[in-house]
Amino acid sequence: MTKVHLRPAVAALPGYQAGARPSGRLVYKLSSNESPYPPLPGVMAAVADSLADLNRYPAMLADDLVDGIARFHDLEPGQVSVGAGSISVLGHILTAVAGESDEVAYAWRSFEAYPIVVGVTGARAVTAPLAPDGRLDLAALSAHVTERTRAVLVCSPNNPTGPAVRDDEFKRFMAGLPESVLVVLDQAYAEFVTDPQAVRAVSALAAYPNLVVLRTFSKAYGLAGLRVGYALGRPRLIAAIRAVTTPFSVSAAAEMAAITSLQLQDELRERVAGIVERRTFLREGLIAEGWEVPDAQGNFVWLELGPEAAPFADACKRAGVLVRPFPNEGVRVSVGEQEGIERFLETAATWV
Ligand SMILES: *Cc1c(COP(=O)(O)O)cnc(C)c1O
Repeated sequence: MTKVHLRPAVAALPGYQAGARPSGRLVYKLSSNESPYPPLPGVMAAVADSLADLNRYPAMLADDLVDGIARFHDLEPGQVSVGAGSISVLGHILTAVAGESDEVAYAWRSFEAYPIVVGVTGARAVTAPLAPDGRLDLAALSAHVTERTRAVLVCSPNNPTGPAVRDDEFKRFMAGLPESVLVVLDQAYAEFVTDPQAVRAVSALAAYPNLVVLRTFSKAYGLAGLRVGYALGRPRLIAAIRAVTTPFSVSAAAEMAAITSLQLQDELRERVAGIVERRTFLREGLIAEGWEVPDAQGNFVWLELGPEAAPFADACKRAGVLVRPFPNEGVRVSVGEQEGIERFLETAATWV
């Protein structure tokens, strides 16, 4: 037993439960909101080209990717900070603003990395309940803001329940918050959103100096294995995030893949449209079977199952489909391969 003193905040951290991984026989992995598509050929070629320089460090802050993202969103490079996945970027953001005796507020149930990244800072996590239909209740979230609150995390679309925050409710929420409180709008699933009333995050950046928008290449862009995410915000905030970012954390392969992906928007749109069509097929199939399914604006749907969540996920597994159970709450099903979804719907039909 080591006698090294661990920070109490670290000793108390919950573990991150990753989605199940397939083992052996043919299974459909609908448990981690990944893209079912292999990388685009242009992206593979860009990664292969970068391999000849593996003996070299990558650019310290991935400047070429920062420039590419800034151009893509019509922002200045000083408004972009990249990192090894948006979870790590979120960790850097919170390190920059929160510590012991501070609070960070977010809705719950939401993304399960939040309690961990908040916990690491030593700040207290304060959670507000969701509305019954799986939507974020921004009024309830505001009510949990105190003078100790340093940041509020808003996940839209909300993982794992699915709905997106609406633009009008977001504006009201921002107007009611002190400008000293940082709002992190986590948009990991932005590309899949079809609700015309959903929050327009990047244009909101101009209006709110206390807003940071988080995006990732892990979901719609299908680069979860390469680890690239980024934050957009005011230069002063971005400079603070960069100051605490681990240097060289985005590899040259990841940087090249992300730059190339940004240039392949037609292919991206085609793939996203396919997933959105399949999402409708899955959700409407479930509703036809008698399930209640919240609005789904990401690449996943949510079924509230209470104590049946774990046994239902086991039944899916026996049928060759891995879904993500949240014990005693529900099950999240990613929009993956069409055959996997059909097989999932067959199992779901036997359960209602
Ligand atoms: C998947 C996901 C992320 C992305 O994580 P990466 O570290 O970029 O792979 C961020 N936020 C939410 C809500 C997610 O579901």
